[in-house]
Amino acid sequence: MKVLKFGGTSVGSPERIKNVSTLINDGNKQIVVLSAMSGTTNSLVEISDYYYKGNSDAAAQLILSLEQKYNGVIEELLKTDTIRNKAHEIVGNEFNAIRSFANKQFNLACEKSILARGEIISTNLVQLYHEEVGIPSVLLNALDFMRVDADGEPILAEIESRIQKVLSQYPHTTLFITQGFICVNPNEEIDNLKRGGSDYSATLIGAAIQASEVEIWTDIDGVHNNDPRIVKNTYPIAELSFDEAAELAYFGAKILHPSTVLPAKVKNIPVLLKNTMEPKAKGTTISNKSVGKGIKAVAAKDGLTAVKIKSGRMLLAYGFLRKVFEIFENYKTPIDMITTSEVAISLTIDKTDYLAQITEELKALGSVDIDKDQTIVCIVGNLINEEQGYAADVLQALRTIPVRMISYGGSKHNISILVESKYKEQALIALNDNLFKK
Ligand code: ADP
Ligand code: ASP
Ligand code: MG
Repeated sequence: MKVLKFGGTSVGSPERIKNVSTLINDGNKQIVVLSAMSGTTNSLVEISDYYYKGNSDAAAQLILSLEQKYNGVIEELLKTDTIRNKAHEIVGNEFNAIRSFANKQFNLACEKSILARGEIISTNLVQLYHEEVGIPSVLLNALDFMRVDADGEPILAEIESRIQKVLSQYPHTTLFITQGFICVNPNEEIDNLKRGGSDYSATLIGAAIQASEVEIWTDIDGVHNNDPRIVKNTYPIAELSFDEAAELAYFGAKILHPSTVLPAKVKNIPVLLKNTMEPKAKGTTISNKSVGKGIKAVAAKDGLTAVKIKSGRMLLAYGFLRKVFEIFENYKTPIDMITTSEVAISLTIDKTDYLAQITEELKALGSVDIDKDQTIVCIVGNLINEEQGYAADVLQALRTIPVRMISYGGSKHNISILVESKYKEQALIALNDNLFKK
């Protein structure tokens, strides 16, 4: 059985939905994971922001215009009265649920419940379209099996047992449709896998059913060697290892949610990235094969904060790093990048919710400096090569850019460079010109 995931643009209009249908209707057993139609989750975030601010009127206006958009989609996508009426009823109920938060105390759980509606609507519409054109399919409610723990981490064993129980009810079905992104937390509330999380849903479901393959269908022909939104003349990479793809996803290649690769790697399931607009294009295959040597791609992750702890006592001291890391651990704050010198340690964090408390505690160990608005530029590939080093090429490319931190050798797949965010574009272009155009 395969898992196929289609992103927001791929289901972004009635025409695109019909196109998706031609890609999934091949008679093979599969679970199709869908995102919300493009733009919807952003609108739902905006509606939630109005509710937070107590501006129910502005929320109501936005809800109405989004509902009208969906009514237009239904009219264009579906032709028979019975199916159309069904669609209007389902979509109307979802919008009424969003309206029910007006003039009430609004919190994160309310917001998560609202954000889930985009995927619930898109999957219902796609399922009804298949019903109308006579392609048998079953809509699975992702909330019946996608479970996360109190830290928002998916519980794979529970997802596995739940989804298998659900699937066993439909032994003869070949086409299943379900929502990406959404899940349930230990409080039995609707939660999500964070923005872009449908990719992660797809590999989690793939791992849970030991799929033969996970296909992620999007609006570009695979993972490119650099960020196509910033750099011209990027090209798709035919093959990446799980480790290389994981580094790229984690360090900013927007095409994949940061955690997408992990479940696939654990269960050794190949992940294919394909373009819905150009289905014949080869795309990218991510697998356990390590193909080719050298630098393959560059990505950048924004929004980082660098923390430097300087202590006169680090000289020959053991236990210093443990004390530093313990503070971050106690505040559940992951560290992305680390560099050390004899008297100081610099590290970067993404999550700054507890930065004030962390800084206060670190002060007991030494002086603390904080630099905000930092970007990690990550150079990825198979960087073990006895005959050649790669660091010189990278640093040569960045010679006009002030570099804050460098990390090399943590794994054989990654060189990470920290720069102020204002240099990101310049750094990505310089690396492209120097590393790939020879
Ligand atoms: P979807 O809605 O299908 O999940 P996304 O917008 O999340 O699609 O991801 C696809 C987009 O990722 C592409 O349109 C592209 O602009 C962007 N992107 C950023 N970095 C890369 C990269 N290295 N390779 C390919 N696409 C990238
Ligand atoms: N709809 C969600 C988002 O926009 C999840 C996804 O598209 O992957 O973030
Ligand atoms: Mg995405």
